[in-house]
Amino acid sequence: MKAFEALESNVRSYSRLFPAMFSRARGSIMFTEDGRRIIDFFSGAGTLNYGHNDHTIKAAIAEYLASDAVVHGLDMATPARSEFMETFSSVILRERGLQYRFQFTGPTGANAIEAALKLSRKVTGRQNTISFTHGYHGMSLGAMAATGNHFYRAGSGVSLSGATFMPYDGYLGPAVDTADYLRKVLLDKSSGVDAPAAILVETVQGEGGINVGSRQWLRSIQTIAKDAGALFIVDDIQMGCGRTGEFFSFEFAALSPDIVVLSKSLSGYGLPLSMLLIKEELDAWRPGEHTGTFRGNNLALVSATAAINIYWRSRSFSQGVQHIGGLMRNRLEAIAAGHRNSFAVRGRGMAMGFDCQMAEIAEAAARKAFDKGLVIERCGPDDQVVKFLPALTIDLETLNQGLDIFEQSLAETLK
Ligand SMILES: *Cc1c(COP(=O)(O)O)cnc(C)c1O
Repeated sequence: MKAFEALESNVRSYSRLFPAMFSRARGSIMFTEDGRRIIDFFSGAGTLNYGHNDHTIKAAIAEYLASDAVVHGLDMATPARSEFMETFSSVILRERGLQYRFQFTGPTGANAIEAALKLSRKVTGRQNTISFTHGYHGMSLGAMAATGNHFYRAGSGVSLSGATFMPYDGYLGPAVDTADYLRKVLLDKSSGVDAPAAILVETVQGEGGINVGSRQWLRSIQTIAKDAGALFIVDDIQMGCGRTGEFFSFEFAALSPDIVVLSKSLSGYGLPLSMLLIKEELDAWRPGEHTGTFRGNNLALVSATAAINIYWRSRSFSQGVQHIGGLMRNRLEAIAAGHRNSFAVRGRGMAMGFDCQMAEIAEAAARKAFDKGLVIERCGPDDQVVKFLPALTIDLETLNQGLDIFEQSLAETLK
């Protein structure tokens, strides 16, 4: 570990939180160089929904590489690119009655968010974006302007402008429907809130603390966007690709976003791949107006196509995620009840949060869990929420082992 301390910038973070040399990984298990076996409940912040190194996906990548097919070609036409779009259109979109154009952006989620915001400004001729308290959209300046977290905002060093924050669902307690406030200020031309180009929302706030937007609230936000003449953008970077039990996290609310932003688990293998799904009539780009050297990297498109073919051609994968999500919820609620319910359990599908209320408790529990063989991350404005994002492909034995470790770690923390 010496190289990291001596050579890598102070900015490194996960090598501090999880101090071990990770040498191999398969499915939900990571192995360290000194032979430890560690269960992964972090999944690269939702990038490894199908686990580490899925062997069928790996075979597709290996075959592509072995054939000398084009790996990098900017956005030149390749069979990998057309096959991905055709597969995604038929298996994911058409099955759900959705129709979108694809825009491959630079490989980060943040770049896809930038593209979505730029397009909404271009389409509407407006500048403002409505985003939500505790929302997270990435580290570049435009995405950061729409991100709530004080620590990240402070790191940017310039004033962040162009976004107005509105209270997310539940922000003012269960009795207040925050959509009412949003509707009021957007329909009142003298509220002081500039007419927005877009409303940008996560259906479940991943980094923000696993805050769950209700079906009704999300539907209201979509309607408000329409009434306000703003584009309705769902940031499905972390909650998409099956995390909440369906491919898109908004299916349960039957939403029809103008733009959907996907990244993280899209490639299915941890390879960088981000894209926008854009309603055809909003595709106002001129050719080349948003570029990037690594847009739609072919290797990532090959793994993405394989992942869709393997997991999404039948409904059973989705049903499995919902089933396992239910087991996780029951178990976490039982753990909370064992501590006289001083903790809150939130989530949807296999994205669950255990709100410890106090950062010190969450931190100590996660640290002890790592010592016992579990990688688990925290989130929320004070990092007070322990975040459960196991691979959607996890087997029940490993899931229960991980939950056992968390339960023991929490109990020891509270002793
Ligand atoms: C991770 C994430 C992003 C940013 O993606 P990067 O690839 O880290 O730039 C944006 N929005 C959400 C909801 C995310 O979880």
